[in-house]
Amino acid sequence: MSPAPAARAAAGTAGSDAEAESDRLYPDCDPYGIEFGLTEAERAPLRRLRAVLDTEVYPLLAEYWEKGEFPYSIAPSLQALGLMEPKEVADAGAEPSALYHGFRIFELARTDASVATFYTAQAGLFRTACRVGGTADQFAAWDPAITRFEMTGVFCLTEPDHGSDIAGGLATRARRDGDEWILDGAKRWIGGAHSADRLAVFARDEADGQVKGFLVDRRAPGVSLAKIHGKTSLRMMQNADIRLDGVRVPEEWRLGNVQSFRDVAAMLRQMRSDVAWIAAGLQAGAYEAALRYVRGREQFGKPLGGFQLVQEKLARMLDNVTASLAMAAALAGRQQQGIYRDQDSALAKMGNSRRMRETVALAREVAGGNGITLAADVARFHADAEAVYSYEGTHEINALVVGRSLTGLSAFA
Ligand SMILES: Cc1cc2nc3c(=O)[nH]c(=O)nc-3n(C[C@H](O)[C@H](O)[C@H](O)COP(=O)(O)OP(=O)(O)OC[C@H]3O[C@@H](n4cnc5c(N)ncnc54)[C@H](O)[C@@H]3O)c2cc1C
Repeated sequence: MSPAPAARAAAGTAGSDAEAESDRLYPDCDPYGIEFGLTEAERAPLRRLRAVLDTEVYPLLAEYWEKGEFPYSIAPSLQALGLMEPKEVADAGAEPSALYHGFRIFELARTDASVATFYTAQAGLFRTACRVGGTADQFAAWDPAITRFEMTGVFCLTEPDHGSDIAGGLATRARRDGDEWILDGAKRWIGGAHSADRLAVFARDEADGQVKGFLVDRRAPGVSLAKIHGKTSLRMMQNADIRLDGVRVPEEWRLGNVQSFRDVAAMLRQMRSDVAWIAAGLQAGAYEAALRYVRGREQFGKPLGGFQLVQEKLARMLDNVTASLAMAAALAGRQQQGIYRDQDSALAKMGNSRRMRETVALAREVAGGNGITLAADVARFHADAEAVYSYEGTHEINALVVGRSLTGLSAFA
């Protein structure tokens, strides 16, 4: 796979002021310097992350993408970075901001969407399920193990027969039996399930018809997992079909603050904003790869990057990346103030995913035939964008969330 990681990091923006730009994390894809909203203490762990991604992760991507396997050997290095509660931020006496949280996802996705999704399954989906769904005591007890990856988990909402209509359709059943619950049903598409300790499963309580949440031991009797084969997108990420047959869960592992689907929706609000950052990062990675390619490849005796029509495509890609980054950062600002709503994260997930699709198509296009091979480094982003486009609510479903807020009319059913 070309180019080498060092070349990957050193594309640089032509004509920029060298001194002002020397400290930039994203000189090629953040022209308005949104990154400068980060504190220096927040930039330090992102630099540490960049170093691990460049040296340990990037060299494995093409091989594992082609094999359709996840390179689990990278997990210890990523986990050891302590990115959820970075020591530099704690030493500065601060809490990591929503903007830091977003740029952490952006940095991961800029390298690879499967790696970003793998990390976000723990740091985003599972931790959010425990933070929003657990009581304060539960979260306080579990979070140290979650941030150190000593208790890993995944988020199990979607079912074989219920994706977009999961709110009303959720069919997995939960029945109370003394101090335990008994779960029966099936889940589909669950990312990272095979390597997780706990499955955050959402099931409908037979007693009151409401959706409740449970942290199920993956190895409990009655839990069976099957890998979903034949994916053409996010090939490295392992997704599972899960069956739950009479699975017993102690009451203490029930998420105490999940009383109905409304509480699950509060989790989706956070998760959709995370995916807006994945969509921004993924297209940044595709754009930067395209930029390197058109600088290196010559046709008609000069680099592709010197042709007007190619430059127009580069400009459109940068327009998309910048708009996506700005939208995600503005949403992070609202999250930081605790004032974001369902429609805010739905709008960012929808808009960034739509722009992402155009960006990866343009990146693939300027690389010509090589653009469909893993060697030019854009094909992986091009293919992976399709999964990101669909998960955490499809374009249509997020549009309907926004539309409902605009009109006061629900158009779901
Ligand atoms: C790679 C990947 C990873 C995933 N990881 C997880 C995970 O970890 N945990 C988890 O719980 N889920 C996960 N999912 C599931 C994901 O959230 C669902 O795929 C998504 O919600 C869409 O559901 P669906 O695939 O069943 O599509 P469907 O709901 O069957 O939709 C099919 C099409 O119909 C459209 N449609 C549906 N209803 C309407 C309507 N009312 N109006 C207009 N159009 C409509 C949709 O927009 C879509 O285009 C993952 C999915 C993928 C692909």
